[in-house]
Amino acid sequence: MPTTIATASQRLLLLTVCMLALPATISRAAEDGERPNIVFIFTDDHCTQALSAYDPTRITTPNMDRIAREGMRFDRCYVTNGICGPSRAVIQTGKYSHINGFMTNGNRFNGDQQTFPKLLQSAGYQTAIIGKWHLVTTPQGYDYYDVLKGQGPYYNPPMITAGDDGQPVTRPHTGYTTEIITDKTLDWLREDRDPNKPFMVMYQHKAPHRNWMPAPKYLNWLDDVTIAEPETLRDDYKGRTQAASHQQMTIRDHLSARDLKLGDVISLNPEQRKVWDAAYEPKNKAFEAAKASMTEDEIFQWKYQRYVKDYLRCVKSVDDGIGEILDYLDESGLAENTIVIYSSDQGWYLGEHGWYDKRWMYEESLRTPLLARWPGHIAPGSVNNDIVSNLDFAETFLEIAGVPVPDDMQGRSLVPVLEGQTPDDWREVFYYHYYENPGAHNVARHYGVTDGEHKLIHYYALEGKKIDDWELFDLKSDPNELQSVYGSSDYTAVQQKLQTQLEQARQQFNVPEDTNIAPQRRNRQQPAAKRKQ
Ligand code: CA
Repeated sequence: MPTTIATASQRLLLLTVCMLALPATISRAAEDGERPNIVFIFTDDHCTQALSAYDPTRITTPNMDRIAREGMRFDRCYVTNGICGPSRAVIQTGKYSHINGFMTNGNRFNGDQQTFPKLLQSAGYQTAIIGKWHLVTTPQGYDYYDVLKGQGPYYNPPMITAGDDGQPVTRPHTGYTTEIITDKTLDWLREDRDPNKPFMVMYQHKAPHRNWMPAPKYLNWLDDVTIAEPETLRDDYKGRTQAASHQQMTIRDHLSARDLKLGDVISLNPEQRKVWDAAYEPKNKAFEAAKASMTEDEIFQWKYQRYVKDYLRCVKSVDDGIGEILDYLDESGLAENTIVIYSSDQGWYLGEHGWYDKRWMYEESLRTPLLARWPGHIAPGSVNNDIVSNLDFAETFLEIAGVPVPDDMQGRSLVPVLEGQTPDDWREVFYYHYYENPGAHNVARHYGVTDGEHKLIHYYALEGKKIDDWELFDLKSDPNELQSVYGSSDYTAVQQKLQTQLEQARQQFNVPEDTNIAPQRRNRQQPAAKRKQ
C-alpha cells in the first residue's frame, strides 16, 4: 500500500521539521511527557493470604488481581525489618534500618537525609504522598502531602497537610478513612497536579492494620460464610526456641475486647455508631448468649472468625479504592505510561501459628505482596521468583525516572527484573533484622538470612536480656517452619553455608553489633534538677 507508506514518510518528515523548530522549553516538556508516572499503592499489614492473586481461599480482590494479571506478581518479596515505620523508612531511603536510623516504631525519621522522593523532585518529578506516613516528622521531598496523624483511626481521621504558609496544619475529616484516602488521591490526580510534569504519587492506606474496623457497607459482609482456618492455627511452639512461646500475639489470648468488637468502639460519630451497633449488636448478643455452653476451642474458633472477617472486610475497601484509581488511569489515558505498584509494609499472620501481627522472620511476615503493572515493559501475567525486597523500591523508582541511583543505597533497581531480564549476579541470599524488644507483642530481637530454600535465624535479645538461640528451617520439607533443624547432623553443610552467608551479609551491609538491648528508661533525658524532685 504505497499511499500509506508515503503518508507515513510525510508525517515523519513533518514531525522532524517541527521538532527542529521547537524552542528548548517545549522540547523539554515533550521529553517529560515520555518519562513514566509512578503510582505506588501501599497498605499496612496486608498479607498474601488475603490477596486472591496469591491465595484465593479467603477473599477475592479483583482490582489487586488486575494489577497481577496485567503485570507481574512477585512471590519472594522480603522486607528487611518486618514492622510498619521501619519498613517505610527503608522504602524512603533504600537503606537498612541501622543506616537510616529508624529501627523501631518508637523512632523519629530523620527527614534531612537523602530520600528517593527528594531525588525525583530535583529531577523534575512532581511528588505526592496521601494517607499513612507513620514516620513522625513532617514529610520532606513532596510537592503535596496529606497524611494521617500517627497510626490514624479507621473513621474520621485528622490529617496533616501544608497550610497556606507552608507550615503543617491538622484538618479534621468525616467518613471512612480508606475511602477518604482514595478520594484525596483521585482529587490530586484529577485537579491538583501539574499535567505537564511526570508524577510519583504514594497512595498509602492505614488498612488493614489493627483494630480492623470495616466500612459501613461491609459491616455484615461475610456474615454467612466460614473462613478456612490455617493449618498451624493451633501451633504449640514446640520444635522452636523459647522466642516462639514468649510472644504475646495469639488470637486465643491476646486480642482485646476492642479488637474483637466486644468492648468500646473508638472514633465513630453518633450516626456512624448507630450503623455500627445495628450490625454488631445482634452478632455480639448471639455470641454472649451461646458462650456459656461453648467449649474453649469453640470460643477460639469464634474469635478467629471475628478477627479474620473484620480484617478481610478492611481489605475489601482497599481493593475497591484501587479499582477507582485504575479506572481513573484508564479514563485519563495515563495508564499507558504509568507504572502501578502494589505492596504492603510487611506480611502478616492471619492465624498462622495461632497469631495476628507481624515482626518475625518467619515466612508469613517476612514476605510482603508485590504486584507491578507497566505496559510495554512488564509481560502481562508474569510471575517472578527472585528474591526482591522493599530495600529495592527506591532504586527502582529512580531508574524508572532515569535518575542515577546513589552508591550508598543498599538495594538494587528492579527494572531489569520487571522487564524479564534478571541480572546473573542478582542476590541469592537475603538479610533480615528486627529490633523492637522489649516492645509490643514481645518478639525477641533477631536477625538471619534465607536463600529461599533454607533459613537461619539468630535470636539475641529478649526482655532486655542477652540470649543466644538459633533456628534453622528447611523450607522445602517444612514450609510452615514448625521444626528447627539447627544442630542436626543432616544439615551440617547447609548450616555452615548459611552461617558464612550471614557473616558476609552483616559485613556487606555494615551491621554493627546491637548491644543496646536494655529497656529504654523514659526519664533518662530529664534534666538533673527535675530528677531530684
Ligand atoms: Ca505494618
